[in-house]
Amino acid sequence: MSAEPILVTRSSMPPMDEYVAEIASLWESHWLTNMGLKHQQLERELESYLGVEDIALFTNGHNALECVLEALALGADGRREVITTPYTFASTIHAIVRKGLTPVFADIKPSDYTIDPVSIERLITPNTCAILPVHVYGNLCDVDAIEKIAREHNLKVVYDAAHAFGVTLNGRGVATFGDASMFSFHATKVFNTIEGGAVSFKDPDLKLKLNRWKNFGIADEEHVEFVGGNAKMNEFCAAMGICNLRHLGEEIAKRRVVAERYWDRLEELPGVKVCRPQDGVTPNYAYLPAVFEPSEFGATRDEVFEALAAHDVHARKYFYPIAPDFDCYRAQHGDAYVPVARHTGNCVLTLPMYADLALADVDRICDIVAGCAKA
Ligand SMILES: *Cc1c(COP(=O)(O)O)cnc(C)c1O
Repeated sequence: MSAEPILVTRSSMPPMDEYVAEIASLWESHWLTNMGLKHQQLERELESYLGVEDIALFTNGHNALECVLEALALGADGRREVITTPYTFASTIHAIVRKGLTPVFADIKPSDYTIDPVSIERLITPNTCAILPVHVYGNLCDVDAIEKIAREHNLKVVYDAAHAFGVTLNGRGVATFGDASMFSFHATKVFNTIEGGAVSFKDPDLKLKLNRWKNFGIADEEHVEFVGGNAKMNEFCAAMGICNLRHLGEEIAKRRVVAERYWDRLEELPGVKVCRPQDGVTPNYAYLPAVFEPSEFGATRDEVFEALAAHDVHARKYFYPIAPDFDCYRAQHGDAYVPVARHTGNCVLTLPMYADLALADVDRICDIVAGCAKA
């Protein structure tokens, strides 16, 4: 047994010398933030990696999402409902609510835990302005069905692609779907800038708007156009991104080996469901969700969680509770009819997953899980 506790993730970092070399020029320029040279360079490199014309960088994914909801002027025509998924991180729903919009919860699909297009259609009203789906765990949403619904009902589509950096569908990059997509470069994500985020978008006019929204709405020295906030990525974070992007290919290749070992081992256990890559999708192996059906598996998710913790292996109940059951949303949304999301939330664990996780540790984790199964 390894002496170190195993956490659910471990942040990728470049060799220290490489980072030091990357930031050295900042001691000459003294240009530390406000869309400096590193910021500009990272934007170009990410555009090329993601296969899009333009992106805008932000301090973090959450601010990026709030900014793009504002820049798209959602709610301005009086329609204030945004159909979204209950099966996501708090940020997705908080961004909607903090922009004065109302989340409406659709259910998810049992196959990949992304939003169910059939459920979306049922919830559309004259007040619906947008759909905010999440490519949860890096699994792609049903992008074609969602686009069709949006077109029929004149809705914007903003993807929370925080989990899906670098994922492609039949060679087409995830950043090209919808009116906009938000990416998170938080330390725990597949690609990190320590803290950071980005938005990709369809309408080229959004670039200028987003750049102003993230800098107090300032247009130029004498004009302040919007009531914007401050969400500019600084040069040290951009430099971290430039370094990490160089190593991303190897990191994802190492994650793949880890994921495949988990899948092979866990699929042998009755009542355990894992997420293999979807048809046509090149994944990024961001997370390792496993769903435990108690009646078939013989133990509950919480029992597996505790058994792992007893061996100093720290999985996460990600996503539990689901968003409508948060303390801050329960009064208004606790009765949302989302049975698949609620059941998944009750049965899921995300297991430790990072590029440097040793296969011996994966085997040990799978042995502990197998030990919980009914004999
Ligand atoms: C990480 C995450 C966010 C927020 O990103 P930050 O960069 O941490 O602000 C939003 N949505 C989802 C699904 C996430 O996992």
